[in-house]
Amino acid sequence: MSEAGETMTDIAQREGAGPHHAAAHAPAVLSVRDLRRSFEQAGVRIDVLRGVDLEVRRGEIVALLGPSGSGKSTLLQAVGLLEGGFQGSIRIAGEEVADLSDSDRTRVRRDTLGFVYQFHHLLPDFTALENVVIPQLVRGATRGEADERATSLLATLGLAERLTHRPSKLSGGEQQRVAVARALANRPALVLADEPTGNLDEGTADIVFAEFLRLVRDEGSAALVATHNVRIADKMDRVLRLHEGHIS
Ligand code: ADP
Ligand code: MG
Repeated sequence: MSEAGETMTDIAQREGAGPHHAAAHAPAVLSVRDLRRSFEQAGVRIDVLRGVDLEVRRGEIVALLGPSGSGKSTLLQAVGLLEGGFQGSIRIAGEEVADLSDSDRTRVRRDTLGFVYQFHHLLPDFTALENVVIPQLVRGATRGEADERATSLLATLGLAERLTHRPSKLSGGEQQRVAVARALANRPALVLADEPTGNLDEGTADIVFAEFLRLVRDEGSAALVATHNVRIADKMDRVLRLHEGHIS
């Protein structure tokens, strides 16, 4: 995708990844109110989230910026319905999800959310294509539909020649691109990404992140992206800073 001598800004402009403002008055896809989470370690209580309020609107890409240990992953795990143990309100696409049953949490995760982690977490025994197909089958797509969408997403990310590769035969950047395609496969209203390029070298990180932004925008999804990297955060529509358990 990148050409020799191109800067991040060149790529972003070429790929149409500039800030967009269409989301300013769109309805909230995520609304968090007074979110609190504490951990007990060796008898000492740490209040990691001390009343977090935030909103992400439809189609908006928002950075969650904070140093290591500030609670970014804790916040994303709560919003992603991966961990309980928090207090407060989380509304996803208008539905209060803080007290849902296990099966309803699974439904919201499957139908409304997409996830990208720092490490790709692809299934090692399946091809790139199959890794993007499987979540669609879980949601009820036919194999034909799922294959078509997976092929198209992977091709958009420059992986048309890598469909039958296992994750171990892909570079780090290619693995993260497959993880991005998987996250978007079911057209989630909201993508949660936790340091999605944190495991890549700087040049690769910039290129993969620009592709992530372009794809999220093209698909019309919103995203909340945790990062400790100001340069990455500045590429997004809005930056929220997590500091001492609050959003500032
Ligand atoms: P970040 O993602 O911003 O680096 P984390 O959310 O991973 O931060 O961690 C925030 C704080 O919460 C850290 O001090 C971490 O040690 C603590 N923490 C996170 N998960 C647990 C856990 N399961 N048990 C105890 N402490 C935890
Ligand atoms: Mg983290």
